[in-house]
Amino acid sequence: MSSERRTLDSALAGSTLTGSQPSSIDYRPVAVMPDVRVVKIGGQSIMDRGRAALFPILDEIIEARRKGIQVVLLTGGGTRARHIYTIASELEMPTGVVATLGKYIPMQNARMLQMLLAKHGGLFILPDDFEKLPLYLQLGCIPVMSGMPPFGYWEKREEGSRIPPHRTDAGVFLSCEFLGARRAIYIKDEDGLYTNDPKKDPTATHIPRITSKELVERNLDDLVVERVVVEYLPRARWCKELQVVNGLKPGQVLAALEGKDVGTIISA
Ligand code: ADP
Ligand code: MG
Repeated sequence: MSSERRTLDSALAGSTLTGSQPSSIDYRPVAVMPDVRVVKIGGQSIMDRGRAALFPILDEIIEARRKGIQVVLLTGGGTRARHIYTIASELEMPTGVVATLGKYIPMQNARMLQMLLAKHGGLFILPDDFEKLPLYLQLGCIPVMSGMPPFGYWEKREEGSRIPPHRTDAGVFLSCEFLGARRAIYIKDEDGLYTNDPKKDPTATHIPRITSKELVERNLDDLVVERVVVEYLPRARWCKELQVVNGLKPGQVLAALEGKDVGTIISA
């Protein structure tokens, strides 16, 4: 019998994967679908406002799709999600349970959005369907999914809070980074980022462009996107910008989908 061993030469064979690495890894993942526009439709800011807010936005998305722009839509939760967060927190549920409950409302919004877009190629997808996006987009479809990242029971907690820190803004950013697109687009109900919540502070001024570093340093009382997204942005390999646009103003969504710098750009 031959004593010859057939084995793959593997750098990590026998490694615990937790020890220090011999050399730092040059993290250069492939950009899977860099031309796709990864777009969030706000829950509280858009969906909860009903048809008056939503339908004109959908018209602009359909127009962009007709122009050949590839769009993947992700949904937020909104007020119904905040309701279950309040009840679950009061009942002292762990963050993982709160995050699991938080999946349902963005899912409802995604299902409604798909129905509204069905005759224009609206297609409901799950995170595991990313691999089918090339086909769906080539067919001219508009894939729609929940923006909630699938951490569920495994969501990490934040000090002093039961609210899952990774909600639908984070899901949009993480999807954008995975797909290799440069900009995550958030459609909300304000012109972008202000120095404070413009609904509560009439003296707040608009910030058209800012870096994530500057934004973290300014430590504003409230933000237009989830804080984790601003924190993660500098670490991203592909998603280098967040764009927040006002979906209530005609033309803004189409301009953003065409790559124009409308609203606020937060860069890495
Ligand atoms: P979504 O519907 O996508 O979940 P949110 O309601 O969570 O959006 O966040 C958008 C809201 O954030 C805006 O409607 C605005 O009132 C509020 N907001 C808080 N802080 C700011 C800020 N610094 N700049 C702009 N908007 C802010
Ligand atoms: Mg939100």
